[in-house]
Amino acid sequence: MIKAVRGTRDLLPPETALWNFVESAVRDVFRAYNFQEIRTPIFEETELFARGVGEETDIVSKEMYTWFDRGDDPESILKWAWWGQYGVKYSSVEGRVSSNGQFAFVAHADNETTIVAPKIAPGFSTVIALRDIKSRWVSEHGTSIPKLAVAVPSSNANSLNIQNDIEIMPTRMPHEYERPQSVTLRPENTAGVVRAYIEHKLWDRGLNKLFYIGPQFRRERPQKGRYRQFYQIGAEIIGPATAGSESPARDAELLEMLATLLNRLGITEWTLELNSIGSPSDRFAFNEALRKALEPVVGSMCVDCQRRAVTNPLRVLDCKVPEDQPIIEKLPRITQFLSEASRTHFDAVCEILSKVEVPFTLNDRLVRGLDYYTRTAFEFTHGTLGAQNAILGGGRYDGLSEALGGPAAPGIGFAIGEDRLVMSLKAETAAEAAARAPIVYIAPLGAGMNAEAARLARELRQHKQLVDCGPVELGDESFRLKKSFETASKLGTRYILIVGENEVKSGSFALKNLATGEQISVLRNELVEKISQPQ
Ligand code: AMP
Repeated sequence: MIKAVRGTRDLLPPETALWNFVESAVRDVFRAYNFQEIRTPIFEETELFARGVGEETDIVSKEMYTWFDRGDDPESILKWAWWGQYGVKYSSVEGRVSSNGQFAFVAHADNETTIVAPKIAPGFSTVIALRDIKSRWVSEHGTSIPKLAVAVPSSNANSLNIQNDIEIMPTRMPHEYERPQSVTLRPENTAGVVRAYIEHKLWDRGLNKLFYIGPQFRRERPQKGRYRQFYQIGAEIIGPATAGSESPARDAELLEMLATLLNRLGITEWTLELNSIGSPSDRFAFNEALRKALEPVVGSMCVDCQRRAVTNPLRVLDCKVPEDQPIIEKLPRITQFLSEASRTHFDAVCEILSKVEVPFTLNDRLVRGLDYYTRTAFEFTHGTLGAQNAILGGGRYDGLSEALGGPAAPGIGFAIGEDRLVMSLKAETAAEAAARAPIVYIAPLGAGMNAEAARLARELRQHKQLVDCGPVELGDESFRLKKSFETASKLGTRYILIVGENEVKSGSFALKNLATGEQISVLRNELVEKISQPQ
């Protein structure tokens, strides 16, 4: 049997009614705050996420669904092209060795061994992977220390800037593979929105208030509340600073809107955790201080922290390993590094929130998994969700547009995990939103009556007054009356309407209330009125 791929799932009725309930409440609230919908493609150039989200983030370094938009895998083409060009020097090539999803092969010459990674666009993760493969190779084979190399298409080789223990081997690719396009299923939507902002010069419209609802994809270890295809509802406020995009009033407006939205959905036990992670220069100073403070202690921390201490010390604060917590507790705090301007901005956000009575908790250890955040950072958590208790997260990303080659465009946004939002809806809200039972079941009685019933159903379904009370369901002339009654009551229908030859001829139809058992005859033109009558 073919099943849904691990980490993906079907959303089935009646649960889909809950999703619709959430989405329509979201649309109502967003409309009141003047947000408009944007829909960006589900896949984008990989480069967008590498630059936008950050190469060293978990998302980009190990969770993306990425492929080359060509039939053949260009990295194996690259390997063969490399062999054609450099093969004479080597006596043999061994199969694939890999680390963290990055592949390489081992080439032997008379007196040296080289580990070569064929890579269209090598990055920092290639360097890490190569060094890891090398140390494994040395521990397994002892003797000679292998050299490291990347085989890259000649067209990319000049612009490459890579660590000097790694040789760059420019490789002439068959013409059609010189520039294969690497594409990625979007792991989040902010980068796509900012790309669209730049591509369509949305700054001409001043301040943009945009929202999106849609699937995102991350290759994470699936568990309750964590999927590989999940859904996010997000909003972004972005525009030139002159349009007010940098104002703390925007941060506060966005947070207040979220509080309103959660309350509207009946989710009241939320906690808003708030922090400022400062401007890029504050963060730089903080990162340096963290790096220094980590140096003497990082050896006793988990491997992830050891890597982060070098690549992105801020992410050490995200570590959930219990043994590391006492060390983390003693590390410097961002509050000590906030510049006057960052502090004033953050104080203003807090002041407005207090004024509009949105409760929040300051958490100076809150950092976000994505590199582009600056200044305000926040998360809403919900007690009943268990380990994956963050319903939504967001923050400012004032430098993102520039990082993607656009003009300065300060912005702030958030993404709600819709899967988790639906999970945290209260039972009563869930019941209220559940799919409504049909208001009427039309039962054609006898041969030739399907057509008559279809005509009547069509008429009834065109009356808003009636369909507002519930859907109209249509039976089949092959059913005996008993079966029609059984089907209608299984569906929880209020009325059953019998359409037989006599009824059609006389223009008067038998309408039976399934709850009370009362049956009356109703003229065709009085049906709508009668069926939509309040009970
Ligand atoms: P992020 O884009 O990582 O800031 O995530 C924003 C929100 O999306 C989180 O607070 C979660 O509610 C939700 N989320 C992130 N990753 C997943 C996932 N793999 N499965 C379900 N929800 C997720």
